[in-house]
Amino acid sequence: MRTYSNTAWWIIVAGVTLVAFWFGYGATERYYLQQLTAQNQSTLRLVSSGLQGSLLRYEPLTSLLADKADVKLLLSSPQDQDRITRVSEQLRSIAQDIDASDIYVMNSLGVTIAASNHEERTSFIGRNFNFRPYFQEAVQGASARYFALGTTSLKRGYYFASPVRSGEKVTGVIVIKIGVEEIENDWRGSGTEVIVADTDGIIFMASREEWLFKSLNPLSDTALTRIRTSKRYPIEKLSELQSEVTTSDVAGSAFTTITLADSSEAYLTNSRFMSDAGWTVHAMVPKTLADGRTLTALVVATLVVLLLLLIMTFVLQRRARLVRDIVAGARAQEQLELRVAERTNDLNIANENLTKEVAERRQAEQQLLSTQNELVQAGKLAVLGQMSAALSHELNQPLAAIKSYAENARTYLARNKAEQASQNIGHISEMADRMAELGSHLRNFARKPKQATEAIGFGTVIEGVKNIIGPRLKNENVTLNHSGFDDSLVVNAGRYRLQQVLLNLINNAVDAMSEMDNPVVTVFSEVRGHEIALCVRDHGPGLNETVSGQLFDPFFTTKGVNQGLGLGLSISYNIIQDFGGAITAENHPDGGAVFTVLLKQADQVEDAAE
Ligand code: ADP
Repeated sequence: MRTYSNTAWWIIVAGVTLVAFWFGYGATERYYLQQLTAQNQSTLRLVSSGLQGSLLRYEPLTSLLADKADVKLLLSSPQDQDRITRVSEQLRSIAQDIDASDIYVMNSLGVTIAASNHEERTSFIGRNFNFRPYFQEAVQGASARYFALGTTSLKRGYYFASPVRSGEKVTGVIVIKIGVEEIENDWRGSGTEVIVADTDGIIFMASREEWLFKSLNPLSDTALTRIRTSKRYPIEKLSELQSEVTTSDVAGSAFTTITLADSSEAYLTNSRFMSDAGWTVHAMVPKTLADGRTLTALVVATLVVLLLLLIMTFVLQRRARLVRDIVAGARAQEQLELRVAERTNDLNIANENLTKEVAERRQAEQQLLSTQNELVQAGKLAVLGQMSAALSHELNQPLAAIKSYAENARTYLARNKAEQASQNIGHISEMADRMAELGSHLRNFARKPKQATEAIGFGTVIEGVKNIIGPRLKNENVTLNHSGFDDSLVVNAGRYRLQQVLLNLINNAVDAMSEMDNPVVTVFSEVRGHEIALCVRDHGPGLNETVSGQLFDPFFTTKGVNQGLGLGLSISYNIIQDFGGAITAENHPDGGAVFTVLLKQADQVEDAAE
């Protein structure tokens, strides 16, 4: 796009330059022709005044010489050879002084009687020049001037003639001939050609030799006869100069095209007519000079214009680039500002959102705090409830057993069976001890006190458990298989706490099989290295993954609201920990869950049991 506009620009520039060149050429040429005309006219003035000066210089000299006594005497005694020689010698000396070609004296018949060139081969003495118009005029008593080719010397010259008088009578004529070659020489080499033509238009003086004796216009027969008679110019040399004169735009000048041989040249010509001599002087300067100057000026002007255009183009392009840059910069700035404004707006919105969010969070926090407080409160209440529920759960079983033993004892007493009654009362006492132990355990659940342990034989443990759970097993028709419970297996533990653990495990096993017919719980103990294992196995659904992960967590239960508290296993875990043992749970390969309690084997069995 840019290249295209650049090309278009340069085409316009070239077009404008061409048009300007075309129209400018005429004006510039006219200007230079005017200059050339002025220059030519000044050359013409110089040439004319030079010629005029020469004429004026020599004219009075002839009159002066005509008055010379020797000349007059010579004409009165023309046979006096000494006088001839003396006068001729005087004339030679004068000719030398005044730079004249020849000076000579003719008698009234036109015969030369004394001449400055008397000693030369071409001496005029004895020659008759009565055919020359200057003689004919002078002999009539008038001063005459004439231009002609010398018939003897064959040199062109200008003749000044004055009558020599003796009284009123013209006795002879004295003539000064001046050469024109020197004058012509002065014209050469100036670049301006000069020609002088007579009234017939014949060129008799010229800066170029080949133009001599050429006529500027066709010669009439009368003119030719006159020339022949006066022997002014050699007839055979006369010819017409092939020239064409056209007018020029510049006043006072014309164009002269001169053709010689094959070449022709046009000249700007200025002419001047010298009225007293009857000559026309033409100063001719080659027209090519003006053409050359015109061309040079136009080329220089064109180059200057092109240079200016180039500079202008450069400046305009630079300016355009600057404007483009400024506009682009302003646009970029605008976009930047727009983006900044957008970003600021986004940030403001984000800020507002954040502020809103913070406020919401604060509110939520506040709500959470109050909810937490409520939850804590609720949690406290729930724990209280759960604790009381746990207490009632743990106490209900021995209480139910106590009630049953007490009623049986009453029956035995009514039947006077004191021994059995006493046995039942013993059972009741045991139950009371157990409840006391349970109470203390629950009381100490949170603070885990280290209670004293003792060596306990397993045989007594299973018996106590059976006494407590017996009624439930009977009610729910559960079979309890137990093996390996022997007093030879001794561990360091608390009797009732260990029984509580076993009771919890058996109760859970029974709970797990509540939906089954003929549920069987298998309890056994065995020696494993230095430890004694106590295992409780059921045939229930077993333990899934979720359950196994949180079995021993307090309050974890899968049972209904009024059925489980989730404390059994947690309490059992703590008790076994207190004994320095471990409790684990796993699924039996044949189904059901197996809970294993591992306790260190004690060295001996001690009697005391709690
Ligand atoms: P609770 O008996 O009050 O639920 P536990 O701590 O004794 O509390 O038991 C926790 C949970 O462990 C039970 O709810 C039950 O899901 C699971 N569990 C305990 N024993 C068994 C078992 N023998 N078979 C299957 N699940 C059991």
